[in-house]
Amino acid sequence: MIGEQLTIAEREARYTSGAYAKRPLTLVRGAGAHVWDDAGNRYLDMTSSMGVAILGHAHPAVADALAAQAQTLISCPEAFYNDRRAELYAVLSALLPDGFDRFFLCNSGAEAIEAGLKVARLLTGRTGIVAVKRAFHGRTLGALATTWNPQYREPFAGWTPPTTAISPHDLTAAEAAVDDSTAVVVVEAVQGEGGVYPLDAAWLQGLRRLCDERGALLLVDEIQAGLGRTGTWWAFAQADITPDLIALGKGIAGGVPMGALVWRGALGSIESGTHGSTFGGNPLACAASIATLRTLQAMDAPTVCAALGQHFLAGLHALNAPSVREVRGRGLMLGLELRGRVTPVLQALQARGVLALPAGKTVLRLLPPYVTTIEQADEVLAVLAEVLHDANA
Ligand SMILES: *Cc1c(COP(=O)(O)O)cnc(C)c1O
Repeated sequence: MIGEQLTIAEREARYTSGAYAKRPLTLVRGAGAHVWDDAGNRYLDMTSSMGVAILGHAHPAVADALAAQAQTLISCPEAFYNDRRAELYAVLSALLPDGFDRFFLCNSGAEAIEAGLKVARLLTGRTGIVAVKRAFHGRTLGALATTWNPQYREPFAGWTPPTTAISPHDLTAAEAAVDDSTAVVVVEAVQGEGGVYPLDAAWLQGLRRLCDERGALLLVDEIQAGLGRTGTWWAFAQADITPDLIALGKGIAGGVPMGALVWRGALGSIESGTHGSTFGGNPLACAASIATLRTLQAMDAPTVCAALGQHFLAGLHALNAPSVREVRGRGLMLGLELRGRVTPVLQALQARGVLALPAGKTVLRLLPPYVTTIEQADEVLAVLAEVLHDANA
């Protein structure tokens, strides 16, 4: 219609795939822990844009590194060596346990898992995959095989590699599932999307022992829980285990798309041509990642996340809301198991200027940026208290 003014949301909805359940909110700007909508309203972003903006939005170190690299060299395929890529390897391997010095760089978390499955098969010559119920490892066809939610998997039945799913904390099931045909066991030390469940150290140690005994590789997915979020650089460290392969993504480049698979170099490297990615290891993402990792190091991210996480956790327990069944979490990876559905609570929070995430139908998930201040944390807790109080009424 002539003269009709469509909103941004309407203009976007006209073309979007339908793959995403959309919230009626249009975000146009961010700074630190805040984002703004197209009407100028401000929100505290306790989603970190899905766990990605770990240093908050428009962090100057990341923005400056991107601007400088954009004016120098944006693309450089892996067929050539590159200064930023070489630097990133050094910075990242210094944060990892000794011996993790083989990397495959890619562009998302799911791609890091795909790489993990392929590398495990190549290194072991085996085909078996074991994953954990409630796990989330991404939605491309290989990664999807290891993701638990049947809603995500069932429309693609028959297209994903055969995978055995075991219950978390069931060592007998693990003993039955892991055998001499198993290439890889995939696990999150703290399950995120599945409901924010930290897995018991003893069980994770049992998985480690089984993999050692039976020659399978242990792939720990640190895409959401890694990089300091749970209070240590790596969530697996709290279970006192060392994986064989580690998948990284989300915040690794401060919001720029990037994923990485890292493995113990002692296991060997893979043959040329067995895997690849046009954009993998591009200098722009590498520059953003170097800036992010150096900033995380300088701020001592694990200590910051542990302290801020304690503050949040104490505040969440103190809410004492009857509508909350359980409070779970490690560091800045927090979950509130509600008695009812999470969607109305998320909507009420948004109406009061706080953005949070679901993790399943009844879990409210907070993934605050590491730059969140105590005052901002208190503001979130106050709004949560109001909303949960209303939810009880
Ligand atoms: C988000 C996530 C993934 C998938 O990452 P994408 O970048 O969305 O492909 C995999 N594993 C975990 C634990 C995640 O949180």
